Amino acid sequence: MSLLDDIRFCLKPRCPVCREGRLFKPWSVDPVEECAICHTRLGETDVGDGASVFMIFLLGATVVPLALVVDHFFSPPLWVHAVLWGGVMLGMIAVILPAVKAYVILLEYRHRPKR
Ligand SMILES: [Zn+2]
Repeated sequence: MSLLDDIRFCLKPRCPVCREGRLFKPWSVDPVEECAICHTRLGETDVGDGASVFMIFLLGATVVPLALVVDHFFSPPLWVHAVLWGGVMLGMIAVILPAVKAYVILLEYRHRPKR
């Protein structure tokens, strides 16, 4: 299992066991109850808030400095900040959150004790 495989897994989330079945429900980041290929019970995964906390730190560390720079150079009205950065954050969440959550689920399956 190489870093390249992990990146590929995050970009196209699949079952962490067989790497073929769908990992998330359609239009959601909730895992499916059971892999359609290998019948692993993916609904039992408990990754807690790991992916969400990572996204909060990532968005805070990128969007806030960008907003400060834009405000310093352009001084747009407050509603422009709300629309611009709200859209940027929603876009980043839609693109990055599934990959981060898939990676956290992969790590859980890789390091959890055998049952
Ligand atoms: Zn599977």
